[in-house]
Amino acid sequence: MAAATVRDFGARFAGRLRRDEPMSRHTSWHVGGPADFFFAPRDRDDLAAFLRALPADVPLYWVGLGSNLLVRDGGLRGAVIVTHGVLSRLERDADGDVRCDAGVPCARIARQCIRWGIGPADFFAGIPGTLGGALAMNAGAFGGETWTQVVEVEVIDRAGAIRVRQAGEYQIGYRRCTPPVDDEGFLSARLRFAPRPDAGNEQLRALLVRRRDTQPIGEWSCGSVFTNPPGDHAARLIETAGLKGLRIGGACVSPKHANFIVNDGGASAADLERLIAHVQQVVEAKHGIRLLPEVRVVGEAARCA
Ligand SMILES: Cc1cc2nc3c(=O)[nH]c(=O)nc-3n(C[C@H](O)[C@H](O)[C@H](O)COP(=O)(O)OP(=O)(O)OC[C@H]3O[C@@H](n4cnc5c(N)ncnc54)[C@H](O)[C@@H]3O)c2cc1C
Repeated sequence: MAAATVRDFGARFAGRLRRDEPMSRHTSWHVGGPADFFFAPRDRDDLAAFLRALPADVPLYWVGLGSNLLVRDGGLRGAVIVTHGVLSRLERDADGDVRCDAGVPCARIARQCIRWGIGPADFFAGIPGTLGGALAMNAGAFGGETWTQVVEVEVIDRAGAIRVRQAGEYQIGYRRCTPPVDDEGFLSARLRFAPRPDAGNEQLRALLVRRRDTQPIGEWSCGSVFTNPPGDHAARLIETAGLKGLRIGGACVSPKHANFIVNDGGASAADLERLIAHVQQVVEAKHGIRLLPEVRVVGEAARCA
């Protein structure tokens, strides 16, 4: 962006717009270089105004809780919009459907649905991201999936125009959501559940305890690094290729769950990306199956000094 445009921009959105914001502060792997512009809108009008003012050639990225994002060490050229802590309405409408903003953490949806006596929404408790990220990924856990519950979504395009789209306009698959057009972000969704008066916090806690026994919850990770190939499990393929515990720099294939790669505190994004590529190569050589990353890799590699 031209220097004069940047100055105007900074003044207009002062307080919500940060320059050179380290993305390591906004990803669950705690890595990632700076974003040129990092915008936390006041509300949806502020967001629309920002999008209208953003030159069309500036790349744009949406971020929720960064729990499925690997931002490279050189960071992101362009603008990041963060929804977490901003788009946070969660309520029931007159039809009994749930209206949920994109920045709402999935765990809050699960807890609130229990209070309302509706479900199935337990699976949201297993997803440590926002609804926006869960829509983009068709995130799922414990046998449930995000888009199964979606009636319609509200989206905003690059020019700041808001519209409603029906769930049927999206192609949905396992950890995949293909939108009808590329340049829209999710603002909110209308979710439909059935009455579940017997749903309780104890069941939810039991699911999470079981998960804690088998996954390195609490360590810095992005959850499952690879999607499961048809009829198999990425974790099984990685473990039987002898890769559990393998380390590159501060990145390590978790000894607890082979499809998790953890940052021990000293990893760079480059360490994590190298380990992902290495796991892919070894698994393909051993099993003849190319694992596909579930995690979204974005940004530029660090420039050499
Ligand atoms: C410990 C751990 C366990 C996990 N377990 C699971 C699991 O069981 N099942 C599962 O599915 N996932 C799991 N994940 C991965 C992750 O939580 C999900 O993919 C989640 O949906 C990502 O949400 P987020 O808000 O963090 O998205 P981000 O990581 O911030 O973004 C992910 C993608 O969504 C896009 N995006 C985010 N918000 C919007 C928006 N408003 N509009 C358009 N695009 C948007 C981003 O651009 C990006 O491409 C786990 C992660 C961790 C760290």
